[in-house]
Amino acid sequence: MDLIERFELPLSQRPVSALSLGDDEQKSLTIRPRQFSDYPGQDRVKENLMIYVKAAKARGQPLDHVLLHGPPGLGKTTLSKIIAYELEVPFYEASGPTIEKAGDLAGLLAGIEPHAVVFVDEVHRIQIAVEEILYGAMEDYCIDIIVGQGGTARSVKMPVPPFTFVGATTRMSLLSAPLRSRFGIMERLEFYDPESLAQILRRSAEIWQVPLSDAGALELARRSRGTPRIANRLLRRARDYGEHRGESAITEDVVQWTLERLEIDESGLDRMDRRILQTIRDHYKGGPVGIEALAATIGEEKRTIEDVYEPYLLHCGFLIRGPRGRELADLGVEHLQKSRFEV
Ligand code: ADP
Repeated sequence: MDLIERFELPLSQRPVSALSLGDDEQKSLTIRPRQFSDYPGQDRVKENLMIYVKAAKARGQPLDHVLLHGPPGLGKTTLSKIIAYELEVPFYEASGPTIEKAGDLAGLLAGIEPHAVVFVDEVHRIQIAVEEILYGAMEDYCIDIIVGQGGTARSVKMPVPPFTFVGATTRMSLLSAPLRSRFGIMERLEFYDPESLAQILRRSAEIWQVPLSDAGALELARRSRGTPRIANRLLRRARDYGEHRGESAITEDVVQWTLERLEIDESGLDRMDRRILQTIRDHYKGGPVGIEALAATIGEEKRTIEDVYEPYLLHCGFLIRGPRGRELADLGVEHLQKSRFEV
């Protein structure tokens, strides 16, 4: 089994998806910031991490275990790689669902170098049996493994090198309390403001050698759902459309044209976002509606709605999540009225 393999949610390849999609992710490798100084935005998180990294280095000890949470595409993986880079230690990467057995975890940890960063994405999806082994590894750098079978089976303590576990999750609420309590550092990544996203876009454009006007960068940033992964993806589409039209630079006009073609509206919402809002309005009289019923009506996976679409709709104030389900907010109603696009 390949522990380095990245987990991907099944998802239609919509242009504003914040989930990593193989090819796009490959192309974004070169633009992934390597150090804190290349990473715009998330100032509070970044400043905290810089202090902790510096202190751990000064003490010559591994950094405390770190939990990064927040919607997909905001830079959790990137930050974890930056942590390893700044600590000057090796980086190992795995994904929660791919660590199927306790032996997989033992194999991964047995092979690491001391003080390394071990990054596990989708950490809330680790199997409970594996999670229980992880507790000891995180606390005492020791794992209990069972050797032998049947009557001769016995538990053996296996030491592992001291390491920093960095877990990332889009769903903090699904993380078990015992696992959560073992992280010394917990940071929540927020949606980016347009200025920080524009800075990210200007950097990507420079690396890709695509002329991008300031107004074009700001317009793309405003319509990227506060998410760097989406911003970079839209920049690539704007480059395609710009080339198609024979433009020498990505101007605001090219951006407008691109987003129009992709049916991405003023707030960065795409067809599926609007469909969610419209379904709640038309089928459920504005809600509240339970997530299962909503997912079935729309024909999208519940988890995808919760992880990918809903956080930004809540952030914009278009949707309200209450104890009885999802409700359309007044701002959501207004947004649908204003929208020029068909759903
Ligand atoms: P997550 O792990 O939260 O899903 P990633 O770390 O994979 O997100 O980031 C998604 C993409 O966005 C990557 O290509 C990364 O280079 C880019 N990115 C994320 N945050 C930043 C940032 N602050 N500055 C520049 N690029 C960023």
